[in-house]
Amino acid sequence: MFNMVVFGPPGCGKGTQAARIVENHGFLHVSTGDILRRQIASGNAMGELLEKFTSRGLLVPDQIILKEIWRFALRHQYEKGIIFDGFPRNLYQAQMLDRIFYKKEMRINLVVSIDVDEDELIRRVLERGKTSGRTDDNAEVMHNRLLVYVGQTRPVIDYYRRKKRLVEISGNRPVDEVAASIDLAIVHKMQA
Ligand code: AMP
Repeated sequence: MFNMVVFGPPGCGKGTQAARIVENHGFLHVSTGDILRRQIASGNAMGELLEKFTSRGLLVPDQIILKEIWRFALRHQYEKGIIFDGFPRNLYQAQMLDRIFYKKEMRINLVVSIDVDEDELIRRVLERGKTSGRTDDNAEVMHNRLLVYVGQTRPVIDYYRRKKRLVEISGNRPVDEVAASIDLAIVHKMQA
């Protein structure tokens, strides 16, 4: 099994690149943002609670996310591979993911961090907001999402760098070029 994280700030292209990896390698894609949006759309009490966080650009409490990830890992432990998109989002989640996986004799093989200039991130998210219907794809919430990324999420990069699983890629390039770099990193890691 080959498990990987597509990592980076909001608007860096994680979802787009994860879809490419699915096409090329047949891994399973899991986006915690999509899981949360489905729960919010269902309109139940849990969805209402989650929306209070997502609509402000704040992280949903770790225990809620980790329960979803644990359930997902159990259900899919015999797949070819899993691509995590939007998770882990802080150091605690990264540590807990390793712990959950260790129990199942699984591991994160590769973390691809996609770096994009802040101006470009804002431009992309505002553009996406015209059609995405997402309550968080606007200038005000994007500002918070970037603060959360810098303060809580970006430190995860060092965690994976220390564990020698990190590959950093520039996302200030056309989608195909970024996809090619990611593909190279996957193939390289698979052969290692
Ligand atoms: P995304 O689609 O990945 O941009 O996520 C949208 C929103 O969902 C984020 O701004 C957070 O409010 C929430 N979210 C997604 N993934 C996580 C996570 N791993 N931990 C906490 N909150 C999350």
